[in-house]
Amino acid sequence: MKQDVRALSLDELRAFFIEQGEKPFRGNQVYQWLWQKGIHDFEGMTNLSVPIRALLETHFSINHIAIDTQQKSKDGTLKNAVRLHDGLIVESVLIPTATRSTACVSSQVGCSLDCTFCATARLKRMRNLNPDEIYDQVMAMDQQSRMYFNRPLSNIVFMGMGEPLMNYKNVVAAIDKITDPSGMGMAPRRITLSTSGIPKMIKKLAEEYPKFKLAVSLHSARQSIREQIMPFAKTFPLEDLLEALHYWYDTTKSRVTFEYVVWEGINDTAEDIDALVAYCHQVPSKVNLIQYNSIGDAQFKQASNAKVAEYQQALESKGIVVTIRNSRGSDIDAACGQLANKTQV
Ligand code: SAH
Repeated sequence: MKQDVRALSLDELRAFFIEQGEKPFRGNQVYQWLWQKGIHDFEGMTNLSVPIRALLETHFSINHIAIDTQQKSKDGTLKNAVRLHDGLIVESVLIPTATRSTACVSSQVGCSLDCTFCATARLKRMRNLNPDEIYDQVMAMDQQSRMYFNRPLSNIVFMGMGEPLMNYKNVVAAIDKITDPSGMGMAPRRITLSTSGIPKMIKKLAEEYPKFKLAVSLHSARQSIREQIMPFAKTFPLEDLLEALHYWYDTTKSRVTFEYVVWEGINDTAEDIDALVAYCHQVPSKVNLIQYNSIGDAQFKQASNAKVAEYQQALESKGIVVTIRNSRGSDIDAACGQLANKTQV
């Protein structure tokens, strides 16, 4: 099988051309086509001679993603079903607001974790995405944003399918290209990694990539409750998470955002609210109260607006910043927790 040309670094591409008796700057040209212009085939690399394109063809392939289907929500949100070279599918979502275009990107096919309220967790984890498969999703949505909204992407959130910190190496390799001035050149502070809370990997991220934004899917600050709805949390208890978040803040000076859904009968008591306020008090943080998007499980029901307001008041009275996020794209199953390749099933 031919090697995917996009597994090569710029230096390796230059070395390839030297080996072939060509000028090394050909490597820079190929790199630009691949990473700045997002081209999918060697034929389109028009500043290279025909024999050089043929040379590339005999040595390499380009395993580019293909957009299989696109669905558009009433609210303008665009969901892509993305076909990978081996036929597997992931989903990615472009979310426009008046001033911004946010790309919500997948990092795994399925997910390593087992959150009971999330549709993606019901798919088995098939594999990690490669760096270029992550990059391609971003590039495709950048093009869509330019086409539909006349502007480039403004933000990227790793809130699609999968747990980004369980595919750390490939996620950061993709982001290196996304932030590289010879790639898309996006500022790291416009990129948010959302994790269910893997303490060791949060520390590693703090050390290696302190400029990214971090979001943690908390959903309960009581260990006994969190374990019920997010069973993997037995392995990663709240105390260890807190310790890692201290490390994150000390290293990056950037506040974590806690993502939190309030469910009726699950985390809607005064005790739950107090636990969250106490947890937030221990580390500089903000809270994003997100709306539950139904995945057809009777066990989970969004709490009333009054309950959500109680949470908000309790947090704000202690000086903790709270935002209430309305869901986007739920009519096409594009909202948080709903990505499950339904159109393919
Ligand atoms: N695995 C990462 C990335 C996924 S982000 C993480 O857990 O953070 C997707 C966000 O949507 C997470 O905060 C997740 O907890 C939340 N979520 C999952 N299912 C949901 C649902 N049905 N309704 C609303 N939010 C949900």
